[in-house]
Amino acid sequence: MVYGPVSSWRLGRSLGVDPICAAEKVCSFDCVYCSLGRTTEKIIERKIFVPTEAVEKSLGKVLPKVKPDVITFSGTGEPTLAKNLGEMIESVRRLSKLPIAVLTNSSLQFKKEVRRDLVKADIVKGKLDASNAELFARVNRPHKGIAFWKVLKGLKRFRNEFAGKFALEVMFVPHNKELAADIAEMVKEIEPDEVHINTPLRPSPVAPLSRAELEEVEKSFRGLNYISVYKTKKPPKISRVIGKEKIKRLKR
Ligand code: SF4
Repeated sequence: MVYGPVSSWRLGRSLGVDPICAAEKVCSFDCVYCSLGRTTEKIIERKIFVPTEAVEKSLGKVLPKVKPDVITFSGTGEPTLAKNLGEMIESVRRLSKLPIAVLTNSSLQFKKEVRRDLVKADIVKGKLDASNAELFARVNRPHKGIAFWKVLKGLKRFRNEFAGKFALEVMFVPHNKELAADIAEMVKEIEPDEVHINTPLRPSPVAPLSRAELEEVEKSFRGLNYISVYKTKKPPKISRVIGKEKIKRLKR
């Protein structure tokens, strides 16, 4: 339920809180590039996976022993599926003065109660990998209850309501690289504070784009405050493409 600190290319030393903590991956998406393997429980109903008190207790024990830069809600699935996410953020806030981040796939940001939870964080990193419903279905393989237009609507609403730092990640794989210009146009409409241009350098069933390919993609994002994974001080090492059976359950 609490792991790390792990080194994050954008957040620094990040102490992770996993509000799902399930034995299998619980997510509203089943992205083609997911390093956690196939989604075993694809859901959109929010529920309590881990009691808030358990997270508080675990964090209270770990915090005095480590020196992270940030506390990040992430882990073995989509954090906004946890119905008590807002309560957990408030509880972490009572324990620490460190900034609190949430990494979300943005699938549920169209729901008012999810946005109400997320605005309690200091940093929210969302996701947009597609520019139309067909590409969305191919890359993110969402739960059937999530329409592409709803994701866009949720992202725009959240942008207007959130006073903290809002970053948007676009994961580029061979499936969506040709539509980089269209995706960039949509990102411009959302107006995030920062854009993270990424490609799966960690173990993934999909090969990452090369440095040259990602540089080509970057051209569409000119004018935006973006950072590309190959241009960070310490980009993650490229991992070989791995088969489903070899995918380890890695923390994000
Ligand atoms: S990459 Fe993230 S959003 Fe996509 S399936 Fe994996 S855990 Fe879910």
